[in-house]
Amino acid sequence: MAETIGTATVVDWITRFRDAVTEKRDWLTELDSAIGDADHGANMSRGMAAVVEKLGPASPATMDELLKSVGMTLVSSVGGASGPLYGTLFLRMGMTAGAVTELDAAALAAALRAGLDGIVARGKAEAGDKTLFDAMAPAVDALDAGVARAAGIADATRAAAKAAAAGRDSTTPLVARKGRASYLGERSAGHLDPGAASVTLLFETLADAIAGSS
Ligand code: ADP
Ligand code: MG
Repeated sequence: MAETIGTATVVDWITRFRDAVTEKRDWLTELDSAIGDADHGANMSRGMAAVVEKLGPASPATMDELLKSVGMTLVSSVGGASGPLYGTLFLRMGMTAGAVTELDAAALAAALRAGLDGIVARGKAEAGDKTLFDAMAPAVDALDAGVARAAGIADATRAAAKAAAAGRDSTTPLVARKGRASYLGERSAGHLDPGAASVTLLFETLADAIAGSS
């Protein structure tokens, strides 16, 4: 198993994420219809289809160009809260990764941490607000923990995906304090947060792409 990932693996990740949000589009929409405006599935599948189309067959050769292209397309093609938030995630990842062709586990973790910080700078979410932060923050923490114990990039990303899923499930009883779902107040409790669900797909497809890259 390689201990770094190249741009081809990142493209594979992005493509797998496009496939996952397309396959789960109706489920994401159903989640958003309970506590939002029923567009999260459409937003994510439309945005990721545009991303993959924009990348085309000759995708950028360096991590910064590649990740920035993903972020710019999401910002420009998704209208909802999730477009700017996911867009910021990838733009910050690109800035942090820099003009390199490979990322090791520590560099991947640092890029995702910067992406999470960008999401917080933009949306001001805190733990327990019932947003995608509640899945992403534990995932990035688990990735850092994997790096600290020298777990290997495949094990570390699989642990991050499991932490994201647990974080996603933890949103069900919460009362939303950010985004559209917060307008519902107490009535937002008892439903999974759609953004936490899509972020879990993001980390699951990352682990799958890395597992498939050996
Ligand atoms: P919109 O809410 O504009 O319809 P989407 O339905 O695509 O956009 O995305 C909704 C998701 O965005 C929510 O489930 C939540 O996870 C996430 N979200 C909304 N506001 C914030 C915020 N301020 N910080 C982090 N995530 C947020
Ligand atoms: Mg919505």
